[in-house]
Amino acid sequence: MKDTEILQNLLKNLFSHAQWPGTTACSKGCSACCTKSVTISALEGIAIQRHCRQHNIHINIDKNIPNTTRPKQTTNQYVNSFLFRKNNSVEETEWSTDPCMFLKNDVCSIYSIRPIMCRGFISYSDCIQNGFAEVPNHIVSYNIIIQQIIEHISCGMIWGLMDDVLFALGINLNENNLNANQLTKNTLVCQPIKGFMLTKDESLRLCDLLNKIKQLLQNKFCNLQESNTIISCIDQLI
Ligand code: SF4
Repeated sequence: MKDTEILQNLLKNLFSHAQWPGTTACSKGCSACCTKSVTISALEGIAIQRHCRQHNIHINIDKNIPNTTRPKQTTNQYVNSFLFRKNNSVEETEWSTDPCMFLKNDVCSIYSIRPIMCRGFISYSDCIQNGFAEVPNHIVSYNIIIQQIIEHISCGMIWGLMDDVLFALGINLNENNLNANQLTKNTLVCQPIKGFMLTKDESLRLCDLLNKIKQLLQNKFCNLQESNTIISCIDQLI
C-alpha cells in the first residue's frame, strides 16, 4: 500500500524543480495553454481535491469530453515504447481548445497546486502573437522527465485527462487505496519509468537540474522504493 502523505510531499518537492532558466513571455492573464487537454496522475488529482476543499473551490467536471481528445498512452508508456522500439504507432489525439475548469477570468484558480503539465507550458516569446510556443528542446525534454517521474511515483494509480481523473477520484475516493480499481473506462494506469528520452547534448545541458532531483531523492526520500529506480535512470544520463 502506498503512503499517500510521503508521496504528496515528494510531489510538492518535484513541483519546485519545475522552474525554468531565464525570463519567459508568460504572464498572469495569458491562458492560451489552459484547456481540457491537461493530463494528470491520481496523486496530482488528490492534491487538487484537497486544495479545492480547503479553499472552497468548486470542481466542475465535464462528463462530455470527446473520446478523440483522450490520450491512448501514458507518458511513460509512450517513452518506454520509444526506447525499446516496441509498437510506437500512437493513435493521434486531438488537442482540446475548450477551457480548463479551473480557469476563472483568464487566471488559474488552483495556481499553487497546478499539475506538472501546466508548469511546463511556457514560451520565451509571445505565443499568441506568433501562433506557437518557443521552448528549447532540452526544456521540453526536462518537462517530460518530471512528468515521467511523477507518473512513476504514482505507479498503479490512475492517469488521464484532469476531468476524467477527478471524476474517477470523486466517485471512488479512498486515499489509502489508490490503485487501478479506480479505473474508469476513460482513464489509464500510471506506469514505471524505464529510461529517459534525451540526446547527449540535452543530457549535458540538464546535468545540474537532474543532479538536483537525484540529491532530493537521496537526501529526503531515500527510504522510498520508487527513488532507487529514478536515481538509476538519472545515473545512466549524467
Ligand atoms: S489547472 Fe490552471 S494552469 Fe492548468 S490548465 Fe487549468 S487553469 Fe491552466
